[in-house]
Amino acid sequence: MKPAPFEYFAPLELQEALDLLERYGDEAKILAGGQSLMPLMNLRLARPGLIIDINRLSSLDTITATPEGGLTIGALTRQRALERSKIVQEQNPILAAAMPLIGHFQIRNRGTIGGSLVHADPAAELPAVSLLLGAEFLLRSKSAVRVVPAAEFFLSYLTTAIRPAELLTEIRLPKWPSGEAWAVQEIARRKGDFALIGVALRAELDGEETVQKAVIVMFGVDSKPLRMERAEAVLKGRRISEAFLRELSGVVAEELEPDSDIHASAAYRKEVGGVLVRRALESALAKVKETRT
Ligand SMILES: Cc1cc2nc3c(=O)[nH]c(=O)nc-3n(C[C@H](O)[C@H](O)[C@H](O)COP(=O)(O)OP(=O)(O)OC[C@H]3O[C@@H](n4cnc5c(N)ncnc54)[C@H](O)[C@@H]3O)c2cc1C
Repeated sequence: MKPAPFEYFAPLELQEALDLLERYGDEAKILAGGQSLMPLMNLRLARPGLIIDINRLSSLDTITATPEGGLTIGALTRQRALERSKIVQEQNPILAAAMPLIGHFQIRNRGTIGGSLVHADPAAELPAVSLLLGAEFLLRSKSAVRVVPAAEFFLSYLTTAIRPAELLTEIRLPKWPSGEAWAVQEIARRKGDFALIGVALRAELDGEETVQKAVIVMFGVDSKPLRMERAEAVLKGRRISEAFLRELSGVVAEELEPDSDIHASAAYRKEVGGVLVRRALESALAKVKETRT
Protein backbone atom coordinates (compact mmCIF):
# COMPACT_ATOMS: atom_id res chain seq x y z
CA MET A 1 0.00 0.00 0.00
CA LYS A 2 1.32 3.42 -0.91
CA PRO A 3 0.01 6.88 -0.14
CA ALA A 4 -1.06 9.31 -2.86
CA PRO A 5 1.74 11.73 -3.83
CA PHE A 6 2.35 14.63 -1.44
CA GLU A 7 4.83 17.43 -0.86
CA TYR A 8 6.98 17.14 2.27
CA PHE A 9 8.32 19.80 4.63
CA ALA A 10 10.31 19.21 7.80
CA PRO A 11 10.63 22.57 9.56
CA LEU A 12 13.41 23.09 12.10
CA GLU A 13 11.62 25.90 13.95
CA LEU A 14 8.11 26.16 15.36
CA GLN A 15 7.56 29.47 13.56
CA GLU A 16 8.35 27.81 10.22
CA ALA A 17 5.72 25.12 10.90
CA LEU A 18 3.15 27.79 11.77
CA ASP A 19 3.99 29.74 8.59
CA LEU A 20 3.46 26.59 6.51
CA LEU A 21 0.14 25.87 8.24
CA GLU A 22 -0.98 29.45 7.63
CA ARG A 23 -0.03 29.21 3.95
CA TYR A 24 -1.49 25.77 3.18
CA GLY A 25 -4.31 25.37 5.78
CA ASP A 26 -6.68 22.53 4.86
CA GLU A 27 -4.31 21.10 2.23
CA ALA A 28 -1.66 20.31 4.83
CA LYS A 29 -1.44 17.61 7.49
CA ILE A 30 0.87 17.56 10.47
CA LEU A 31 2.96 14.40 10.80
CA ALA A 32 3.87 13.54 14.41
CA GLY A 33 4.35 9.83 15.26
CA GLY A 34 2.56 8.78 12.06
CA GLN A 35 0.86 5.86 13.85
CA SER A 36 -2.62 6.98 12.80
CA LEU A 37 -1.89 9.27 9.85
CA MET A 38 0.33 6.87 7.88
CA PRO A 39 -2.17 3.95 7.89
CA LEU A 40 -4.92 6.38 6.79
CA MET A 41 -2.70 7.69 3.98
CA ASN A 42 -1.58 4.24 2.91
CA LEU A 43 -5.23 3.16 2.68
CA ARG A 44 -5.86 6.44 0.83
CA LEU A 45 -8.53 7.40 3.33
CA ALA A 46 -6.48 10.59 3.79
CA ARG A 47 -4.84 12.32 0.80
CA PRO A 48 -3.14 15.46 2.06
CA GLY A 49 -1.35 17.44 -0.65
CA LEU A 50 1.33 18.41 1.82
CA ILE A 51 2.90 16.94 4.95
CA ILE A 52 4.45 19.10 7.66
CA ASP A 53 6.69 16.78 9.66
CA ILE A 54 7.14 18.25 13.17
CA ASN A 55 9.56 15.59 14.41
CA ARG A 56 12.50 18.03 14.36
CA LEU A 57 10.76 20.48 16.71
CA SER A 58 12.48 19.32 19.88
CA SER A 59 10.98 22.24 21.84
CA LEU A 60 7.67 20.32 21.69
CA ASP A 61 9.17 17.19 23.26
CA THR A 62 9.19 18.16 26.93
CA ILE A 63 7.68 17.16 30.27
CA THR A 64 7.85 19.93 32.86
CA ALA A 65 6.54 20.17 36.41
CA THR A 66 4.90 23.55 37.05
CA PRO A 67 5.46 25.53 40.28
CA GLU A 68 1.76 24.90 41.11
CA GLY A 69 2.31 21.13 41.04
CA GLY A 70 0.83 20.47 37.61
CA LEU A 71 2.48 19.25 34.44
CA THR A 72 3.14 20.88 31.09
CA ILE A 73 3.69 18.37 28.32
CA GLY A 74 4.89 19.21 24.81
CA ALA A 75 2.63 17.82 22.09
CA LEU A 76 5.48 15.85 20.49
CA THR A 77 6.25 13.89 23.67
CA ARG A 78 6.21 10.18 22.84
CA GLN A 79 3.66 8.04 24.64
CA ARG A 80 6.49 5.76 25.79
CA ALA A 81 8.30 8.73 27.34
CA LEU A 82 5.18 9.55 29.38
CA GLU A 83 4.92 5.95 30.48
CA ARG A 84 8.53 5.90 31.70
CA SER A 85 8.77 9.43 33.09
CA LYS A 86 9.44 9.56 36.85
CA ILE A 87 7.79 13.00 37.03
CA VAL A 88 4.61 11.66 35.42
CA GLN A 89 4.58 8.53 37.59
CA GLU A 90 4.92 10.62 40.74
CA GLN A 91 2.78 13.62 39.86
CA ASN A 92 0.08 12.09 37.71
CA PRO A 93 -0.15 8.34 38.33
CA ILE A 94 -3.31 7.80 36.28
CA LEU A 95 -1.68 9.25 33.15
CA ALA A 96 1.31 6.93 33.58
CA ALA A 97 -1.02 3.96 34.19
CA ALA A 98 -3.04 4.66 31.03
CA MET A 99 -0.01 4.54 28.75
CA PRO A 100 0.64 0.76 28.62
CA LEU A 101 -2.99 0.32 27.49
CA ILE A 102 -2.17 2.10 24.21
CA GLY A 103 -1.32 -0.40 21.48
CA HIS A 104 2.11 -2.04 21.77
CA PHE A 105 5.37 -0.47 22.94
CA GLN A 106 6.54 -0.15 19.31
CA ILE A 107 3.49 2.07 18.67
CA ARG A 108 4.12 4.09 21.84
CA ASN A 109 7.80 4.57 20.90
CA ARG A 110 6.63 6.70 17.97
CA GLY A 111 3.07 7.79 18.87
CA THR A 112 2.83 11.20 20.54
CA ILE A 113 0.42 12.62 23.10
CA GLY A 114 -0.53 15.43 20.70
CA GLY A 115 -1.17 13.06 17.80
CA SER A 116 -3.49 10.91 19.86
CA LEU A 117 -5.44 13.92 21.16
CA VAL A 118 -5.86 15.55 17.74
CA HIS A 119 -6.68 12.22 16.07
CA ALA A 120 -9.47 11.88 18.69
CA ASP A 121 -10.35 8.25 18.25
CA PRO A 122 -13.35 7.71 20.57
CA ALA A 123 -11.81 4.43 21.79
CA ALA A 124 -8.45 6.03 22.63
CA GLU A 125 -7.20 6.33 26.19
CA LEU A 126 -5.55 9.77 26.10
CA PRO A 127 -8.62 11.84 25.15
CA ALA A 128 -10.59 10.19 28.00
CA VAL A 129 -7.82 10.64 30.55
CA SER A 130 -7.26 14.27 29.53
CA LEU A 131 -10.98 14.94 30.04
CA LEU A 132 -10.85 13.25 33.44
CA LEU A 133 -7.84 15.35 34.45
CA GLY A 134 -9.36 18.67 33.33
CA ALA A 135 -6.51 19.18 30.83
CA GLU A 136 -6.12 22.30 28.73
CA PHE A 137 -4.66 22.40 25.23
CA LEU A 138 -2.55 25.21 23.86
CA LEU A 139 -3.32 25.77 20.17
CA ARG A 140 -1.00 28.04 18.23
CA SER A 141 -1.40 29.59 14.81
CA LYS A 142 0.88 32.13 13.12
CA SER A 143 -1.09 35.06 14.53
CA ALA A 144 -2.83 33.76 17.67
CA VAL A 145 -2.68 31.45 20.66
CA ARG A 146 -5.70 30.01 22.41
CA VAL A 147 -6.24 27.62 25.29
CA VAL A 148 -9.08 25.11 24.92
CA PRO A 149 -10.22 22.88 27.79
CA ALA A 150 -10.52 19.16 27.05
CA ALA A 151 -14.27 19.40 27.71
CA GLU A 152 -14.58 21.69 24.65
CA PHE A 153 -11.92 20.10 22.46
CA PHE A 154 -13.42 16.73 21.52
CA LEU A 155 -16.42 17.30 19.27
CA SER A 156 -17.18 13.97 17.62
CA TYR A 157 -15.65 10.92 15.94
CA LEU A 158 -12.10 11.95 14.84
CA THR A 159 -13.16 15.60 15.11
CA THR A 160 -11.85 18.28 17.46
CA ALA A 161 -12.03 22.04 17.88
CA ILE A 162 -8.57 22.54 16.31
CA ARG A 163 -8.59 24.82 13.23
CA PRO A 164 -6.69 24.11 9.98
CA ALA A 165 -3.95 26.71 10.65
CA GLU A 166 -3.44 25.62 14.27
CA LEU A 167 -0.86 23.35 15.86
CA LEU A 168 -1.38 21.74 19.25
CA THR A 169 1.83 22.64 21.05
CA GLU A 170 1.25 22.00 24.73
CA ILE A 171 -0.94 20.01 27.10
CA ARG A 172 -1.47 21.49 30.57
CA LEU A 173 -2.51 19.28 33.46
CA PRO A 174 -3.55 20.74 36.79
CA LYS A 175 -2.08 19.44 40.05
CA TRP A 176 -3.19 15.92 40.84
CA PRO A 177 -4.47 15.88 44.43
CA SER A 178 -2.81 13.21 46.54
CA GLY A 179 -5.09 10.72 48.28
CA GLU A 180 -7.71 10.50 45.52
CA ALA A 181 -8.93 7.09 44.42
CA TRP A 182 -8.39 6.46 40.71
CA ALA A 183 -8.39 3.72 38.11
CA VAL A 184 -8.18 3.26 34.37
CA GLN A 185 -9.33 -0.03 32.90
CA GLU A 186 -10.51 -1.38 29.57
CA ILE A 187 -11.70 -4.47 27.80
CA ALA A 188 -9.95 -5.31 24.54
CA ARG A 189 -10.17 -8.50 22.52
CA ARG A 190 -6.37 -8.92 22.51
CA LYS A 191 -3.60 -7.10 24.38
CA GLY A 192 -2.68 -4.02 22.37
CA ASP A 193 -6.00 -3.73 20.55
CA PHE A 194 -8.10 -0.59 20.82
CA ALA A 195 -10.57 -0.82 23.73
CA LEU A 196 -14.01 -2.24 23.05
CA ILE A 197 -14.96 -0.21 26.09
CA GLY A 198 -12.94 1.56 28.76
CA VAL A 199 -13.21 3.75 31.83
CA ALA A 200 -11.07 6.30 33.64
CA LEU A 201 -12.37 7.45 37.01
CA ARG A 202 -11.35 9.42 40.06
CA ALA A 203 -13.08 9.85 43.42
CA GLU A 204 -12.51 11.98 46.47
CA LEU A 205 -13.28 9.89 49.56
CA ASP A 206 -13.53 10.82 53.21
CA GLY A 207 -12.05 8.64 55.98
CA GLU A 208 -15.24 6.53 56.03
CA GLU A 209 -14.94 5.73 52.32
CA THR A 210 -17.89 7.92 51.48
CA VAL A 211 -17.57 9.54 48.05
CA GLN A 212 -17.39 13.34 48.22
CA LYS A 213 -16.98 13.83 44.48
CA ALA A 214 -16.46 11.50 41.52
CA VAL A 215 -15.64 11.92 37.85
CA ILE A 216 -16.20 9.02 35.46
CA VAL A 217 -15.20 9.13 31.78
CA MET A 218 -15.88 6.21 29.46
CA PHE A 219 -14.32 5.57 26.05
CA GLY A 220 -15.28 3.35 23.13
CA VAL A 221 -18.97 3.96 23.85
CA ASP A 222 -19.79 7.17 22.01
CA SER A 223 -18.41 9.44 19.28
CA LYS A 224 -16.11 11.09 21.88
CA PRO A 225 -15.03 10.48 25.49
CA LEU A 226 -18.18 10.43 27.60
CA ARG A 227 -18.70 11.96 31.08
CA MET A 228 -21.08 9.70 33.02
CA GLU A 229 -22.95 12.45 34.81
CA ARG A 230 -25.83 10.35 36.16
CA ALA A 231 -23.49 7.75 37.64
CA GLU A 232 -21.32 10.54 39.11
CA ALA A 233 -24.39 12.05 40.81
CA VAL A 234 -25.43 8.64 42.19
CA LEU A 235 -21.94 8.12 43.65
CA LYS A 236 -21.86 11.42 45.49
CA GLY A 237 -22.38 11.02 49.24
CA ARG A 238 -22.53 7.22 49.06
CA ARG A 239 -20.42 4.75 50.99
CA ILE A 240 -18.93 2.04 48.77
CA SER A 241 -20.40 -1.35 49.66
CA GLU A 242 -21.00 -4.55 47.68
CA ALA A 243 -24.72 -3.73 47.35
CA PHE A 244 -23.99 -0.18 46.23
CA LEU A 245 -21.51 -1.36 43.58
CA ARG A 246 -24.20 -3.62 42.11
CA GLU A 247 -26.61 -0.68 42.02
CA LEU A 248 -23.95 1.47 40.34
CA SER A 249 -23.39 -1.14 37.60
CA GLY A 250 -27.09 -0.91 36.76
CA VAL A 251 -27.00 2.91 36.69
CA VAL A 252 -24.01 2.88 34.31
CA ALA A 253 -25.59 0.29 32.00
CA GLU A 254 -28.76 2.39 31.93
CA GLU A 255 -26.88 5.63 31.19
CA LEU A 256 -24.84 4.20 28.31
CA GLU A 257 -26.30 4.46 24.82
CA PRO A 258 -23.56 2.90 22.68
CA ASP A 259 -23.79 1.86 19.05
CA SER A 260 -23.24 -1.67 17.80
CA ASP A 261 -20.32 -2.17 15.42
CA ILE A 262 -18.26 -5.03 13.99
CA HIS A 263 -16.35 -5.28 17.29
CA ALA A 264 -19.21 -5.50 19.82
CA SER A 265 -22.96 -5.08 20.12
CA ALA A 266 -24.58 -2.19 21.98
CA ALA A 267 -26.04 -4.68 24.49
CA TYR A 268 -22.55 -6.06 25.22
CA ARG A 269 -21.10 -2.59 25.75
CA LYS A 270 -23.92 -1.61 28.14
CA GLU A 271 -23.61 -4.77 30.22
CA VAL A 272 -19.80 -4.81 30.28
CA GLY A 273 -19.64 -1.05 30.87
CA GLY A 274 -21.55 -1.47 34.13
CA VAL A 275 -19.25 -4.27 35.27
CA LEU A 276 -16.12 -2.34 34.24
CA VAL A 277 -17.03 0.75 36.27
CA ARG A 278 -17.73 -1.43 39.30
CA ARG A 279 -14.37 -3.19 38.94
CA ALA A 280 -12.53 0.07 38.38
CA LEU A 281 -14.04 1.57 41.52
CA GLU A 282 -13.17 -1.53 43.53
CA SER A 283 -9.57 -1.35 42.34
CA ALA A 284 -9.42 2.41 43.04
CA LEU A 285 -10.64 1.81 46.57
CA ALA A 286 -8.18 -1.04 47.14
CA LYS A 287 -5.29 1.23 46.12
CA VAL A 288 -6.40 3.93 48.57
CA LYS A 289 -6.71 1.39 51.41
CA GLU A 290 -3.23 0.11 50.63
CA THR A 291 -1.71 3.58 50.89
CA ARG A 292 -3.57 4.24 54.18
CA THR A 293 -2.23 1.09 55.88
C1 LIG B 1 -1.52 -1.26 15.63
C2 LIG B 1 -1.92 0.02 16.32
C3 LIG B 1 -2.57 -0.06 17.54
C4 LIG B 1 -2.96 1.09 18.20
N1 LIG B 1 -3.63 0.98 19.39
C5 LIG B 1 -4.00 2.10 20.03
C6 LIG B 1 -4.70 2.04 21.27
O1 LIG B 1 -4.95 0.95 21.82
N2 LIG B 1 -5.08 3.20 21.85
C7 LIG B 1 -4.80 4.42 21.28
O2 LIG B 1 -5.16 5.45 21.84
N3 LIG B 1 -4.15 4.51 20.12
C8 LIG B 1 -3.73 3.40 19.49
N4 LIG B 1 -3.07 3.52 18.31
C9 LIG B 1 -2.83 4.86 17.74
C10 LIG B 1 -1.61 5.53 18.36
O3 LIG B 1 -1.82 5.84 19.71
C11 LIG B 1 -1.22 6.81 17.65
O4 LIG B 1 0.05 7.10 18.11
C12 LIG B 1 -2.05 8.07 17.88
O5 LIG B 1 -3.38 7.85 17.59
C13 LIG B 1 -1.60 9.18 16.95
O6 LIG B 1 -0.42 9.75 17.40
P1 LIG B 1 0.75 10.02 16.37
O7 LIG B 1 1.75 10.84 17.10
O8 LIG B 1 1.20 8.77 15.76
O9 LIG B 1 0.02 11.01 15.33
P2 LIG B 1 -0.01 11.01 13.74
O10 LIG B 1 -0.47 9.70 13.22
O11 LIG B 1 1.25 11.57 13.21
O12 LIG B 1 -1.17 12.11 13.55
C14 LIG B 1 -2.51 11.82 13.90
C15 LIG B 1 -3.37 13.04 13.55
O13 LIG B 1 -3.09 14.12 14.43
C16 LIG B 1 -2.60 15.28 13.70
N5 LIG B 1 -1.55 15.85 14.56
C17 LIG B 1 -0.55 15.17 15.15
N6 LIG B 1 0.13 15.98 15.99
C18 LIG B 1 -0.45 17.20 15.89
C19 LIG B 1 -0.21 18.46 16.54
N7 LIG B 1 0.76 18.62 17.44
N8 LIG B 1 -1.01 19.51 16.22
C20 LIG B 1 -2.01 19.35 15.30
N9 LIG B 1 -2.30 18.18 14.68
C21 LIG B 1 -1.54 17.12 14.98
C22 LIG B 1 -2.12 14.71 12.38
O14 LIG B 1 -2.15 15.68 11.35
C23 LIG B 1 -3.12 13.59 12.14
O15 LIG B 1 -4.34 14.12 11.65
C24 LIG B 1 -2.66 2.37 17.63
C25 LIG B 1 -1.98 2.45 16.42
C26 LIG B 1 -1.61 1.30 15.75
C27 LIG B 1 -0.88 1.42 14.44
